[in-house]
Amino acid sequence: MESNQQDDLEPNKDDLPLRANTNHILVRHYVLDLSVDFQTEVIGGSIVLFLEPCKGPGRTEEVDLVSKNKTEELNTPYVHGENARGFRSASEIIVSQGSQNDASNTSWDDASKDFTLILDCCDLVVSKVEEVDVCTVSELWNLLEVDKVPLDSTQSSSFALVQRLMSIPSARWRQQQDLYLQCSCAQAVNTTEPLLFHMDQWSLQIRKKGVRSPHAFPRALRIWYKTKPSGGSVRWTKDQDGRCCVYTMGSPINNRALFPCQEPPVAMSTWQAHVKAQCEYMVLMSGENQAVPVPDKTGFLEWDYYVTMPMPASTFTIAVGKWQEAKSLPHNHEEVKSEEPCAKSDCKKFDYPQSWSENQSSHLTEEDEKKFCAHVDYPCRFMHRGPITQAVIPHRVFAPSCHLKKAESTLVPLLPFCLAAAHSVLGIHPFSRLDVLIVPPGFSSLGMASPHIIFLSQSVLAGNQILCGTRLCHEIAHSWFGLAIGARDWTEEWISEGFATYLEDVFWAQIQQSQMGSTDNEEQKQLKALLRWRRLKDELENSEEELQVLRPNKDTTGEVSESGASIVKHALNPGKPFMQVHYLKGYFLLMFLAEKVGEIEFLSFFRHFVRRFHGQLILSQDFLQMFLDTFPALERQGLTLESIYSDWLDTPGIAKWLGEASSTWSHSPPVAQVSEEVVKWKHLSGGTRKGTKRKRAGPKVNFKELNPWQLVLLLEFLLEEAELSVSCLSLLQTTYKLCNQDAEVKHRWCELVVKHKYAAAYRDVEHFLIHDQAMGVYLSGKETDTMQMLYFRLRSPGVKSAQGNPQQHTGT
Ligand SMILES: [Zn+2]
Repeated sequence: MESNQQDDLEPNKDDLPLRANTNHILVRHYVLDLSVDFQTEVIGGSIVLFLEPCKGPGRTEEVDLVSKNKTEELNTPYVHGENARGFRSASEIIVSQGSQNDASNTSWDDASKDFTLILDCCDLVVSKVEEVDVCTVSELWNLLEVDKVPLDSTQSSSFALVQRLMSIPSARWRQQQDLYLQCSCAQAVNTTEPLLFHMDQWSLQIRKKGVRSPHAFPRALRIWYKTKPSGGSVRWTKDQDGRCCVYTMGSPINNRALFPCQEPPVAMSTWQAHVKAQCEYMVLMSGENQAVPVPDKTGFLEWDYYVTMPMPASTFTIAVGKWQEAKSLPHNHEEVKSEEPCAKSDCKKFDYPQSWSENQSSHLTEEDEKKFCAHVDYPCRFMHRGPITQAVIPHRVFAPSCHLKKAESTLVPLLPFCLAAAHSVLGIHPFSRLDVLIVPPGFSSLGMASPHIIFLSQSVLAGNQILCGTRLCHEIAHSWFGLAIGARDWTEEWISEGFATYLEDVFWAQIQQSQMGSTDNEEQKQLKALLRWRRLKDELENSEEELQVLRPNKDTTGEVSESGASIVKHALNPGKPFMQVHYLKGYFLLMFLAEKVGEIEFLSFFRHFVRRFHGQLILSQDFLQMFLDTFPALERQGLTLESIYSDWLDTPGIAKWLGEASSTWSHSPPVAQVSEEVVKWKHLSGGTRKGTKRKRAGPKVNFKELNPWQLVLLLEFLLEEAELSVSCLSLLQTTYKLCNQDAEVKHRWCELVVKHKYAAAYRDVEHFLIHDQAMGVYLSGKETDTMQMLYFRLRSPGVKSAQGNPQQHTGT
């Protein structure tokens, strides 16, 4: 066992520690007061945390009733190593590393028995930590009097005040937000003993001398700090117009380099943020309100945002830049006031088929409504009638000016359709409004969803609407799966990505059917499934088995240490961002389940599931068990929780069902069409291999029109050919106008170009590599290595053109 112990001493290098002791104390609300400085590339200011000690088993609120033993246990999350498998070591190793920023390091005593508040963060410079004197906020006292709450003599009055503030019922959320703000502005407690703090690589640790228990720990803290320009979760860059901007880029460390927070998803909190930036900048953020900037004394503008729905701090997102609003269609021009979290639609009725929403409301029975809201008290949209019929929530689109026209012609008209489709399938939008932003080209994926804001890559704007529409559908689906319902254990990424991938097809089919009257949605879904199946197969053949498991922690999924700390397996693995297995296997599992009960029943079950679990965190079994309970007949067919785990979630590779299903997909009509075209192309290439001019000008082949997904498949099939003639490649390019296609098509085209060293189209490759960096995530093809090399060559100084010889490709 000694070797195991050794392993425990150091989490794998690619694991991400979540160190916050959320089992001891929880942040319930953050108030951020920050300034953005583009000159120094620093965001600085203060953050105020409102804390609540946890009511662990056998513990009471009263400080003096906490037994001495218990207190010691609470105080020492990692000093007593037996509490936390493997975590003690992580912290100890790290403690010795990071001390340069630490103003109070000299007095830090690792053996102290005082309680330590541990916050997750990195790359921050903390200058001061102070206790906020909430007792100076007179309105807070009024609250106690009005509510006739007797002051418990065993409690400090500041504790009672903060407790009272945090338990203001959701109906009075506005008063609560206002009081949080007043408290955040209150002065620091005047004391001779300042709070002690200590920074290490992954955390900020705070103590109050002599305080042994979280119950006696201050309830309101203010931390003065600055970010670092190189901080791992805030990207300072230039937008497509060459203007400065900064945004949270959705890295595996989430917001840790933006503010100190409790990262574990169980630490759900609300927030308010007051962000100052120079007048010409616009601050977009995860907030319920559309902030109206107010000038401050320094000539900056201040943008105030808030949320009333408690969410993990990791979902907070900010983007500051010289964004411009893409003009919307006339019916969206109306001034939208979304101040009330549960406000009725201020949007004029969108022109979508009546049946979409009727379909939805007819599913709402009285019994359903009783099942609403199992979450903590917050002003939830599910509790109100208004949002039931609000198919399209207020929304805006922002982009750098060079993409404005394209955003207006592609994105703006699509967005309401996608919102309405999502509403028709899943019901009430969990969030009251939405901003969509075209982010800078360095953004590493096609999209990212956060509360009230979606980042989209410019890559979705090219080509026809399909890539843009489906990606929007995907990100909108995350409002339900990923945000309103989150994964309790981050290793279960499939819970958000598998669902969003599955739902993007459902939403898109809905739009196609109602708007274009298309009748081949089933076939198109099969085509999509085949493409994903090919992608998955390729990925599984080329990745470590360990990374192919959707539930790597198996039966210990969701477990944390005594303090609440944990590690996220492989979260920092460099290969991880390039992997799609969570999206794809998760999507196929849902497809498999849908096939068992039929799509209509399955989606109806989704709505029940959403009503039951919105505002909460889940594990795989919460979904699967409710599914099996809803369709008890399946158990008789041998479908059990255990069989789903072993076939889909706990093992590498693929489930048997997939092998069989995929052969059906490969015979679907749109695929057969592609196969017919492939034959023509192969014939053409074979016939002109010698490349004489006479043959090239030979009889015209009648190529059928293909949609972008079919084109992707066609190019993939052609990629399997050892040889393709120059004239064939040239004709491919012009026949399908490949340079004007979407990024997925262009990606395969570029692979073909590189594979066959088709120099005439190196410009296309250059353009793709520079403008479609988001596709890096999806580069999995055999020519990827060569393309990446080309890319680095293109970017290195002195390389003027991509017309030279391509490097020998090294693809596997
Ligand atoms: Zn609710």
